[in-house]
Formats: sequence, structure tokens, C-alpha cells
Amino acid sequence: MGQIKRIGVLTSGGDAPGMNAAVRAVTRTAIYHGYEVIGIKRGYYGLVFNEMERFTTKSVSNIIQQGGTILKTARCKEFTTAEGREKAYENMKSAGIDALVVIGGDGSLSGARTFAEEFDVPIVGLPGTIDNDLGGTDRTIGYDTALNTIVEAVDKIRDTATSHERLFLVEVMGHMAGYLALNGAIASGAEAAIIPEKETEIDQLADLVSRGFRKSKNSAIVLVAENPETGGAMGLAKRIKEEFPEYDARVTILGHLQRGGSPTAADRILASKMGAQAIIALMEGQRNVMIGTKNGELVYIPFSKATTHKQKLDIQGMELVKMLSI
Ligand code: ATP
Repeated sequence: MGQIKRIGVLTSGGDAPGMNAAVRAVTRTAIYHGYEVIGIKRGYYGLVFNEMERFTTKSVSNIIQQGGTILKTARCKEFTTAEGREKAYENMKSAGIDALVVIGGDGSLSGARTFAEEFDVPIVGLPGTIDNDLGGTDRTIGYDTALNTIVEAVDKIRDTATSHERLFLVEVMGHMAGYLALNGAIASGAEAAIIPEKETEIDQLADLVSRGFRKSKNSAIVLVAENPETGGAMGLAKRIKEEFPEYDARVTILGHLQRGGSPTAADRILASKMGAQAIIALMEGQRNVMIGTKNGELVYIPFSKATTHKQKLDIQGMELVKMLSI
């Protein structure tokens, strides 16, 4: 591990359930192997504005079951500037931090990549985002919990949708990726999923209506991925009102409740394994990689690949929703 003695850990971007489990695993694995750990507060903001504290094994006690992140998270404009990153580097050096573990989404890992290249800092990333939208990994930390939260919410919406014989458009997060919408639709038995990956291929709403998706049923639930380009569920509801007024469409935007809650066992295990592997990676001399999981194995993914992921349309998943909703 060369001269690395002290490792900084931070959570950045949108919070995700399981981030705490990851912070715990990073901290304890590092201390177990003889390194010192510094907890950096509010993501890159803590680096730029010097908000850091020494972590002991106790600092991460009793957090594995907690949602959110004890380190806090933030979006830090200053870090996107060369001056901000210079300040971050100086603070990091003054604190004696030799390497970083960054837990966050694609923005956070893009920042890590730039910082690592500019200042030759060893950084290992962990995919911490409910969106599951990073390249080279089958899963991100927080995705499973968010998916379960969505399923629980949709089960409740179905009760009222069935009673009133209504069409419900349920908007879920995803950051222009349809994983939560599509797999949420499969798991909750929804009638359809409208996802950004399919947006350019077909008018999904017109397709749904032309299939007469509600005719044989007394209610319908459609999971809609957030999409600033189409206006998401609100945009679709507007279109339905104008183009298909025979449908009584209602919108539920699940919003930030998808980020909260105690992480599932799957997320805790993933975060614990990935967090521990981040320290092993630094010990092995790995630099500027994200820990991912592929077919159940932990893998190292260069930041360049992790952050330039293009969503592939899951045709089988889409077909499954269609087939099972007849
Ligand atoms: P989520 O996927 O949950 O939204 P994220 O990590 O993608 O999380 P962002 O807001 O995109 O969230 O990024 C978090 C922070 O990372 C930004 O506020 C900024 O400080 C830093 N960052 C993002 N992109 C860059 C970049 N290209 N260069 C430097 N820093 C960046």
C-alpha cells in the first residue's frame, strides 16, 4: 500500500440506504488493517471547507441499520471548479489524508476521476445511488431498498386504484434510467412501465392505450420513470387528459420517500462487501476504480467506464410486464 497511512471517506450526491453500512465497512476494514480513518462531512464540501473528523471503530457503531448517511451528503459547486479542487487538495494534505474512498453516484465519481487525475490522489469509489445507473456493476448500494419501498407503496396505491377503478401513474426516481420503474412494475404486478430508454423508439402512452390496457380490468397502475424531457407522470397525465379523456388518471409521485428507510439485508451485505473491498483495493495498489459486482463477484471498474454508462433497454423485462398484465 506504499505510503498510505490515513484514508478519508465521504458520501456525496443523493443519499442512498446502505451508505452507512458502506462507511462502517470502510472504517472498520481500514482500522483492522492498521490505517487511520478520517470522516469527511457533506461530500466534497467537507474537503473544500475543511469539515473532517478522525473516525474510530466507535464512530460507526449502531449505524448499519440506519438509512441516510451519518457523514451527511451534499452537492458541492465549488468542487466543480479548479480552484475548489485545489483547496480540497490542500486541505486533504494538511489533514494528512493519503487516499480517499468516495461513495456516491455518477456525478460524485466523475468528480473523483477529475480530482484523481489532477492531483495524483489514489481514490476508490463505491456505487452509492438508488438509481442503479453506473456502468460495469449489476447493482448499486441503495437500489434494492428503494425498489422494496416502491413495491410497498404501489401495493397500497393498488387498494385505492381498485376501489375507484382508476388509472394511476406512479412516478419513481431513476435519473433517466428505468431500472426502478421497470423492476418496480414487475415486482408490484403493475400494468406497464414507462421508461426513458424506450422514449426515442416508441410513443409508450399511445402504445398502452392502443392495447386497451384497462379494458379487461377495473384498475391500472403504470410505473413512470422521472424524465425531465417528457415531464414524467405529470406530463403523461396532461396528455391523457387532452388525448384520452375517457381515462380517469391520477398521479402519485413517490419522490424522496424512495431514498429513505432502513436498508434491506441485500443492501447491507452489498455495502459491507464493497466497503471492505475498497480498502483491499487500495492495499493492492488499485487507483481510480469503482468497486462493482458482476455475476455475484466483486470487480474493479475504471471510473471512465463507471461514469459513461449507457442504459440498455431491458426488452425481456418490458415483454414480461406486457405479458403478465393481460
Ligand atoms: P445521484 O446519482 O444520487 O444524483 P451523484 O453523485 O450523481 O448522485 P451529483 O449531484 O451529480 O450526484 O454529484 C455530486 C457532486 O459531485 C457534485 O455536487 C459535485 O461536487 C461533484 N461533481 C459532479 N460532477 C463533477 C465533475 N464533472 N467534476 C467535479 N466534480 C463533480
